[in-house]
Amino acid sequence: MNTRLSTDQIERYSRQIMVPDLGGKTQIRLRQARALVIGAGGLGSPAAFYLAAAGIGTLGIIDPDKVELSNLQRQILHATEDIGRHKVESAQEKLNRLNPDVEIKTYQTRFDEDNAAEIANGYHFIVDGSDNFATKFLVNDIAIKLNIAFSHAGIVRLQGQTMTVIPGKSACYRCLFHAPPPPEEILNCQQSGILGAVAGTLGTIQATEAIKYLAGFEEGLITDRLLVYDARAMKFHDVEVARDPKCAACGAPKQSAFNSSINS
Ligand SMILES: [Zn+2]
Repeated sequence: MNTRLSTDQIERYSRQIMVPDLGGKTQIRLRQARALVIGAGGLGSPAAFYLAAAGIGTLGIIDPDKVELSNLQRQILHATEDIGRHKVESAQEKLNRLNPDVEIKTYQTRFDEDNAAEIANGYHFIVDGSDNFATKFLVNDIAIKLNIAFSHAGIVRLQGQTMTVIPGKSACYRCLFHAPPPPEEILNCQQSGILGAVAGTLGTIQATEAIKYLAGFEEGLITDRLLVYDARAMKFHDVEVARDPKCAACGAPKQSAFNSSINS
């Protein structure tokens, strides 16, 4: 592994290398980092753009869908001429254009119980930009099992929420929500709407958390709390989240908890 930055790289990343908490060594560290973005949609688009721009060495993008006209109001990786293309292909092209230094790995499939462990294995951080509870719980359980830190986010209408989970250290998504809500209680973007800029804010926070974690920041992450964003009032607030010793994902014993969660 090359441990020096080229002249071009020093120029490209100069504004973040100047940040006292980051610097050149951190830039090399980011180049060695691998982040997986689940979903090339409203959250995944801004997250992937900023991760690529920041010089994360390897970026995985997983999404089974094709670009539709109704996506473009918030899924800023994709443009009008991409309608009908696979989202991962459109994403890879945009991210390569932004920063050819970054290796983009694409997975044109749904992140599910059969492929989750194999895909996630080897990544250092996961940005969960999925739009459904089944995937959000799966990301949580796989990340806990494989000991990979991740960022959760959810968005609806003019609201968003996000938390970062460090397995073994902080409360997980299942400590907070235990199990997916019944289908009749679920609001998603398709049914309830979402302001694109709200997705942008949350996805950008997720990218910031990923970069902080990969840069070695342990303090100041959104751990053991849920950060809630109300765009209508333009306010953020924290909800404290405690680790649940009986949590089905991160409570002991780990192995049986994972098995029970994927078999349920
Ligand atoms: Zn837990």
